[in-house]
Amino acid sequence: MLPNELPSHIQPEKLCRKGDGAGIAISGQIKLSNLKGLLKDLRNQPNAIVKVSLLFSMDEEGLCCVKGELQTDLQLICQRCLQAMAYHLQIAIQVSPVSSDQQAAALPHRYEPLWVPMGEISMAEWIAEEIHLALPLAPCHEPSCE
Ligand SMILES: [Zn+2]
Repeated sequence: MLPNELPSHIQPEKLCRKGDGAGIAISGQIKLSNLKGLLKDLRNQPNAIVKVSLLFSMDEEGLCCVKGELQTDLQLICQRCLQAMAYHLQIAIQVSPVSSDQQAAALPHRYEPLWVPMGEISMAEWIAEEIHLALPLAPCHEPSCE
């Protein structure tokens, strides 16, 4: 068990509507090894921790808004020298929960759709997906290892 563990499932729209203007903050930590469908490259670092900080609120247009960030420190393999490299991943989140294509299409550009077909999502699945999307395809030492 980690201190400040995240809820396993959340109802994003409910949380946004419950916030009473100020919004509802959810922050905590989840182990990389608890994420579903973890990439093969990341399975060798089960102790890595993802720090999550999110605010659920309604924006001025009355849309549900989830803002925040994910942060984690990973060991990736440099695609140039094939040695390990430390990689700090920081992902900015700005999404609005949707349950249909029409809803997603109607979102203003500042939001990415967060797919919540049944009113509830698994934190682990969502975070895994965000990490997959944000990982560099060919990480390399910076400025250069050669
Ligand atoms: Zn390198």
